[in-house]
Amino acid sequence: MIDACKFDGKDCPNRPTFFYVWAWGEEGVCCDDHRATLETRSKQLERGITFSSLGRPSTSPRREYTPPQLREVPADVGALQVRLADAIASSKKLEQQITRLEQERETNVGKMREQELRIQDLIKQNGELKAAAANAELQAQAALELATKPADDAKGETVIEGTPDTQGGGGSRGKRSR
Ligand SMILES: [Zn+2]
Repeated sequence: MIDACKFDGKDCPNRPTFFYVWAWGEEGVCCDDHRATLETRSKQLERGITFSSLGRPSTSPRREYTPPQLREVPADVGALQVRLADAIASSKKLEQQITRLEQERETNVGKMREQELRIQDLIKQNGELKAAAANAELQAQAALELATKPADDAKGETVIEGTPDTQGGGGSRGKRSR
């Protein structure tokens, strides 16, 4: 029979004032202070606990209540419940962290999409600039050809006969020397 407040397997010096039953059937008595602790734990565990007043046994000579048949709960069960409550609390923290990270990721994905669009835009602009540059080069070449043509024509009449020989000789000499 348990008639003292026990908490996590330790005896509590306070006078028990409540009888409690956990949703899973564990029963016990507790003091005012530990009732508050048990209520907190009940919320953390998301498991129900019911309390009933024990009355005031110290002032009445005869006990007004019949202590129910209580099941002794091993000390390590209490320790496990504490660990479970801790684990639940940590899990909730992690869930919040995950939610926050997911939101950050969404923001980052949005930023990445913007950057990708910007990169694509820049690639397109670069392509247009390259095309414009190539076009300008072609125009420049055409202009150069036009500009150099009269000179070729003028030279052509005087140098045209000697050109094949000097070119062939120069070409072969150039190859040999390398
Ligand atoms: Zn207590």
